[in-house]
Amino acid sequence: MAKSKDEAKFTTDILIVGGGLNGLPLAIALADAGLDVTVLEREAPETVTAEIFDGRVSAIAHASRNLLKTIGVWEHVAEKEPMLDIRITDGPSKLFLHYDHRQLGDEPFGHMVENRFLRIALLKRAQELKNLKILAPATYESIERNQAGVHAKLDDGREIRARLVVAADGRLSRLRKEAGIGTVGWSYDQAGIVCTVKHELPHQGVAQERFLKPGPFAILPMTDNRSSLVWTEKTDTAAHIMRLDEAGFHAAMSKRFGTYLGKLKVVGPRWSYPLALHQADEYIAERLALVGDAAHGMHPIAGQGLNLGLRDVAALAEVIIDTARLGLDPGSNSSLEKYQQWRRFDSIVLLAITDGLNRLFTTDFEPVRLARDLGLAAVNKMPSVKGFFMEHARGTVGEMPRLLSGKSL
Ligand SMILES: Cc1cc2nc3c(=O)[nH]c(=O)nc-3n(C[C@H](O)[C@H](O)[C@H](O)COP(=O)(O)OP(=O)(O)OC[C@H]3O[C@@H](n4cnc5c(N)ncnc54)[C@H](O)[C@@H]3O)c2cc1C
Repeated sequence: MAKSKDEAKFTTDILIVGGGLNGLPLAIALADAGLDVTVLEREAPETVTAEIFDGRVSAIAHASRNLLKTIGVWEHVAEKEPMLDIRITDGPSKLFLHYDHRQLGDEPFGHMVENRFLRIALLKRAQELKNLKILAPATYESIERNQAGVHAKLDDGREIRARLVVAADGRLSRLRKEAGIGTVGWSYDQAGIVCTVKHELPHQGVAQERFLKPGPFAILPMTDNRSSLVWTEKTDTAAHIMRLDEAGFHAAMSKRFGTYLGKLKVVGPRWSYPLALHQADEYIAERLALVGDAAHGMHPIAGQGLNLGLRDVAALAEVIIDTARLGLDPGSNSSLEKYQQWRRFDSIVLLAITDGLNRLFTTDFEPVRLARDLGLAAVNKMPSVKGFFMEHARGTVGEMPRLLSGKSL
């Protein structure tokens, strides 16, 4: 357990429900800037060890890395692989779009980090902060919010009073539902098969995104001559592929992967995640703010789900800290409105882009196929348009919160 507190009743400035990849950075950013923060996480921290590999690897964009560096987490991340080039191809077509990090400077587009190493680094950093308590495993029985404040009763009888509660409790957010906030969205009838492949030849830091007919097939560079695959298939086909024996799975994977990295071997388990899009109707309610998957979820086509969540984290932390420094109430409506205005539009734009890309690339209608190939080739030759897409991959577009530019709060 990272931290605990045994008092039956206590007060904290900010209560965060969910100690995942968005909840923990928010807690650290706020505690680092001086607020008293408490996190409730229902999973026991003992489950977060370097031995447990859940197959999830995240592309941490350049801007997200700035945030993690500024709040003192990045130095604790044990393994990370820089992403230097991104190559996008359309099925069997030879036309492709090539993003080279040197066109924007010396810094890579981002880094591939296994989620388990990120969680371990977050927990290490959290332990360094005296004003941050992580209660785990713990959840709440009830949370009441009104103009005066937040009152949480935990399942073990403890009680916490706070000025603001943050829902960082993931896609199925209980807090969002209890606040009566609806969502819009749909399932893609696709699943993302995730596995790790060890290969004979080095990947040279190149990420490949191939748009195959059933959906994108991404090969993302990891440490130690390994790559992470995010392989999209229709739900039925994915279920069939998941049931294949080792030889059958290897054959299906190799057919799509190709031979450019020499001999291949699947290492570790394979996983399948249902893919869906959702967007919360509101990101705020009285003394409540939603961040990360509690607020939105998208197709992993551009590897942006966590990066979008970290943009929420950076914006919310900035609004809360700036308000508290003026001696005002960080849980007030005016403070939360600022957060909502900043984040909702940005999220809708990225959700629409990833949804549109998925639809555009999963059609085999010949005129559309031709147009998108010509589009890829044209973008490749237009420096300003290409620069815009490359800045998106680095997460450096739009009105940037300070933490994403590497400035502390
Ligand atoms: C196949 C796939 C590949 C992906 N690849 C990428 C990528 O390359 N790059 C990227 O940026 N994103 C990627 N994503 C998206 C990314 O993984 C998610 O956006 C991110 O993990 C969401 O984090 P979160 O903290 O908001 O939610 P979660 O990870 O769901 O965490 C929520 C936490 O809250 C806790 N919790 C829930 N309810 C309660 C409760 N009532 N009480 C206490 N605790 C509670 C849970 O135990 C959990 O720890 C990918 C997603 C998929 C499916």
